[in-house]
This record gives sequence, C-alpha cells and structure tokens, in this order.
Amino acid sequence: MKAIVYREYGGPEVLRLEDVPEPQIGPDEVLVRVRACGVNHLDLWCRTGFVKVPLPHIGGSEVAGEVAQVGEAVQGMEIGQRVSIAPWLFDNTCEYCLAGQETTCVRADVLGQMSNGGYAEFVKAPARSILPLPEGLELDAAAAVTLSTLTAWHMLISAAQIVPGEDVLVLAAGSGVSSAAVQIAKMVGCRVFATASSDEKLEKARALGADFGINYTKVDFAEEIKRLTNKRGVDVVVEHVGQDTFDKSVASLTRNGRLVTCGATTGAEGRFNIRQLFVKQLKLLGCYGGSRGELRQVLNAVAQGLIVPVIDTTYPLEAAAEAHRRMEERVHFGKMLLHP
Ligand SMILES: [Zn+2]
Repeated sequence: MKAIVYREYGGPEVLRLEDVPEPQIGPDEVLVRVRACGVNHLDLWCRTGFVKVPLPHIGGSEVAGEVAQVGEAVQGMEIGQRVSIAPWLFDNTCEYCLAGQETTCVRADVLGQMSNGGYAEFVKAPARSILPLPEGLELDAAAAVTLSTLTAWHMLISAAQIVPGEDVLVLAAGSGVSSAAVQIAKMVGCRVFATASSDEKLEKARALGADFGINYTKVDFAEEIKRLTNKRGVDVVVEHVGQDTFDKSVASLTRNGRLVTCGATTGAEGRFNIRQLFVKQLKLLGCYGGSRGELRQVLNAVAQGLIVPVIDTTYPLEAAAEAHRRMEERVHFGKMLLHP
C-alpha cells in the first residue's frame, strides 16, 4: 500500500511516500481503507521528535473510511461499512478502563502515535475502537471532527458542563480545538468570546458563531473581557495556549468559573493567582482526548447539522509535507485533510 513514512525525526521533508506492506490484523482487529485523514499538531510533534514514536513511522490520528477486513473474533461488522476510528486507544483492562474512564487509561495511546496511523491507504485498529458512521455523514466531515472536535466536546460538555446563558471565552479561535469549541458553546446556547491573532481569523470565528472577537495582538484579552462583561468575567475559559496566557485566563473567570485546558503550545510552566482560585472558588480542569461515547455524540451532532466541520484544505496523500508546512506557518483556519 501507499503510505507517508518517516524514518528519522525532522522537518516536513522527512515525510516520504513509500510502498509498504498492508497491516496484518489480529483476531480482534479491523483493517480500514482510509478515505480521509486529518492533520493535527500531534502529527508535527511526532515528526519532529518532540513526542517520541517508533521509527520508521506512519502518523495520522483522525481516520474515516471503510471496513476492508475483519478479524476472526470480530462480530457485527461488514466489509465496506463506513466507519471512523475512535483515536484514543486504551487497554480495556486497567483500573480506569474498568471504571469506564478510557481516556485516563494507564496505557492510553493515540492512533498514529505508538501505533501506525492513517497517512496510508490502510490502517488497523482494535474492533472496540471502530464506530459506524451515522447515515448521511460525509467521510471528510467525519475525519475532520474525530480528534480536535472530540477534544472540544469533552472539554465543554463533559468537563466544564456548560449550560445555556453562560459566557465562554475561547482562546486562539483559529485552531482545530477552538473553532470546534466556538460552535459547541454556541450550540448549547452560550455567549462566546473568541481571541485570535488577526482580524481575518476573528471574522471567521464570528461566522462560526462567536459573539465577540478579541485581537490579542492589539489589546490585553483579560482587560477586554472585563470591559465586555462589565467586570464580571466569564464562566468558562477554553485554554490550550499555556504559559503565555494562563494567568490572564484564570483572571478572566467569574466566581465558580471553570478553566478547561488540553494543551500548552507556548510552554508548560504556567503561573496564576492562587488567591483567585479559592476566593472565587474556581475549578481547573485538565482534559485529554475523548471517549468513544463522546465521539458518537460528536458524529451525531455533525450528522444533524448542529456542528459544521471547518475544512481548510484537502490534499492528496503525497502532499502531506505541504500540509505540515501550512500548519507550521499557522495560516490555516480549521482542518486540513489528506485523501489517501
Ligand atoms: Zn486502561
């Protein structure tokens, strides 16, 4: 099969189209013919060695396609069935899995991290991680929401438990997680404040439903939140920027506010005012990925038109390096997809 393989860590140029053997499935596994695979920051971190992966490696966590082959112990799946792969892999045996908390599995893995991923014509996964797609959901749309939108859903619906009428601040609205977070918060009935580095990105965030756009290169976003909320602050902040913004994110919260975070792209050593944490009775909630149950909810919400996946560009598989360069330049808005 054709696959994008890298044999060493490095820049986008290490991504090369190769002919490699198809994955061999075990009795409990399914082989999926990949029709669309999302490009994520995680793929870049693996490629540069910031996240260590086995080499040579095939990356890619967000897959939609068709069942090509099923292991002998797998039941209820048909060849040709349209599916997505829940990217948060888990061992199904540790204490957290037994408690139904698969995203905190002690042996958690993401598809395309320790295992080979979807930058290929075929990828294999455990049958328990394969989700049939709802009727009428396009494969591109499914691939576009399988990791970042899933994470945003887990953050806002499961962790922060937003309700209609709340105020939600979403940082860096151009990113995959944040563009999804804007739509999810709006879907629930919240008022949404979005930050971005350019007016052009803010315009796109408004088109997704953001009520207020804040260009953080021109104004202090915490001051702007104070002004826009008449000093009250917001109920929820969606974070993944980290070191550069964490103190201001905490300062932007109102009483009983919740900060949900799934990343630290500018650095991991955050500072914040501890007095605010207890006086305002704030909650800091760490989030990482999402479960199969949550992915099912996301796919249904997309099929029903409640969330519209934002697709920036689609590329043929061989142009994976070009997609990585575009992501590094941070000029994209929404999801880039590869079509193997
Ligand atoms: Zn486990």
